[in-house]
Amino acid sequence: MSQSVAIYPGSFDPLTNGHGDIITRAASLFKTLVVAVAHNPNKKTIFTPEERVALIQEEFGSKFENVEVVSHSGLLVDFARERKARVVVRGLRAVSDYDYETQLALMNRRLAPEIETLFLAAREDCSYISSSVVKQIATFGGDVSAIVPPAVKRALDEKYRLGLIKG
Ligand code: ADP
Repeated sequence: MSQSVAIYPGSFDPLTNGHGDIITRAASLFKTLVVAVAHNPNKKTIFTPEERVALIQEEFGSKFENVEVVSHSGLLVDFARERKARVVVRGLRAVSDYDYETQLALMNRRLAPEIETLFLAAREDCSYISSSVVKQIATFGGDVSAIVPPAVKRALDEKYRLGLIKG
């Protein structure tokens, strides 16, 4: 594994400490970890793909030399092939993630049998954290500093101040 490229795809709207834990652990397993921020114009997000990439970059760009952060649109398996990645990393929190994640993994395997999905179990103190919980709290001006990196907290506070996220 230490010689290969892995992709960690997701919406990251926004990056949480749970995502951060997966990035940290996956970065130690692979030569290169590409964090791929999904750009789906049909999905409403608080942060633009560029903002999401910049926030992850700010947190991890200088921490790990082998972590790249990019945005991508289109099929994940096409992107993985383009980057010559054999592994897609995903995080598993509770049973509630299992159905969706295995469905995705099986579909990706059908589309690209040479690519494996690797699940990392969430750290127990991160297993309740999700981007949607973060957004719900931020919508009402609540404090998310314990569950997101400082740069994300600042960016959420700014969106709230500008009235760009409202309850
Ligand atoms: P997506 O829209 O692709 O599910 P997310 O940004 O919500 O994007 O999640 C990306 C991946 O990170 C998913 O595999 C998800 O299960 C995982 N993940 C999200 N939050 C956590 C967490 N707190 N701990 C571990 N994994 C997580």
